[in-house]
Amino acid sequence: MSDVLYLVVPCYNEEEVLPVTAEKLSQVMAGLEKKGWICGRKSRVLFVDDGSKDRTWELIRALHQENPLFSGLCLARNRGHQNALLAGLMEARTRADVVISMDADLQDDVAAVEAMMEKYRQGCDIVYGVRSSRKKDTWFKRNTALAFYRFMKLLGVDIVYNHADYRLMSRRALEGLAQFKEVNLFLRGLVPLIGYRSDTVEYERKERFAGESKYPLKKMLSFAFDGITSFSVKPIRFICALGVFIFSVSLIMLIYFLVIYWMGKTVVGWSTIVISIWAIGGLQLLAIGVIGEYIGKVYLEVKARPRYLIAQWLNEESQDQAEEGEKETKEVQKV
Ligand code: UDP
Ligand code: MG
Repeated sequence: MSDVLYLVVPCYNEEEVLPVTAEKLSQVMAGLEKKGWICGRKSRVLFVDDGSKDRTWELIRALHQENPLFSGLCLARNRGHQNALLAGLMEARTRADVVISMDADLQDDVAAVEAMMEKYRQGCDIVYGVRSSRKKDTWFKRNTALAFYRFMKLLGVDIVYNHADYRLMSRRALEGLAQFKEVNLFLRGLVPLIGYRSDTVEYERKERFAGESKYPLKKMLSFAFDGITSFSVKPIRFICALGVFIFSVSLIMLIYFLVIYWMGKTVVGWSTIVISIWAIGGLQLLAIGVIGEYIGKVYLEVKARPRYLIAQWLNEESQDQAEEGEKETKEVQKV
């Protein structure tokens, strides 16, 4: 059985890494073809250009012209990593039997592709690439990531620990993903909801070999916040509980003050009053903010704007057909 494999690689301003990445991925594909696991003629490395401002798209086009193994998808503008990835997955879905997504900087060890394919051949529909350690990360990134996973677990969101978007999905799993229509995308949270048989593959994550991270702290924080608010309503419940608690405390305080008033003692201490006003005011603002965040999400979902728009598609399907045609003519000649 040889399957059609698509490697989906979102790229945003990746001109520095693309040539090396392309070279390495073509070796990976050649290795898999040699084993007879994939159909080399139809399998592709699909680069999704997420509205890059540098020469990324030109490079993808050049690669495509050189070798039909490389195909390209150009989004109409920058939509962020998750949307670019989704665009690639959805477009690959109709053409491939199995798809593996990875980052353009190849921080994730490409050797894991083979291990993923092995699990797929054993019957898994989803295979998660999991980092075996975070030694290479900075202290800050390691600890904030850990806190994030713990917090998500606490909120009851089922995500795979230390798994980024390096994963294998079968066509069936992608069909499942296609039915999740939400605009606020957090694929790591969505994929486990699909179900089917899944497994993990461990790998060592390296440092970026060129270019710089497209995930600065600000994007990282908003990504984490999106993940939390897209998958859990617990923050809202927590605020409700907090509201009930504070209200009960104020009732008890009211009774207490009435009692000491009747006993003839005057209440002193401006500061306590002022502090409590500020504390409660702050809590209320926070609560409104969190609720506003969810309302904002609902607003975006209701609008149901497209998650991505494709500007250009480079894929040698016509070449495939041409080859088919060629074969036919050869066969005719033989006869
Ligand atoms: N990326 C993207 N659109 C964006 C930002 C990033 O497609 O708006 C891609 C980027 O090209 C890379 C992947 O997402 O292939 C992960 O980004 P990066 O390696 O910079 O993140 P880090 O590894 O530092 O978390
Ligand atoms: Mg990276």
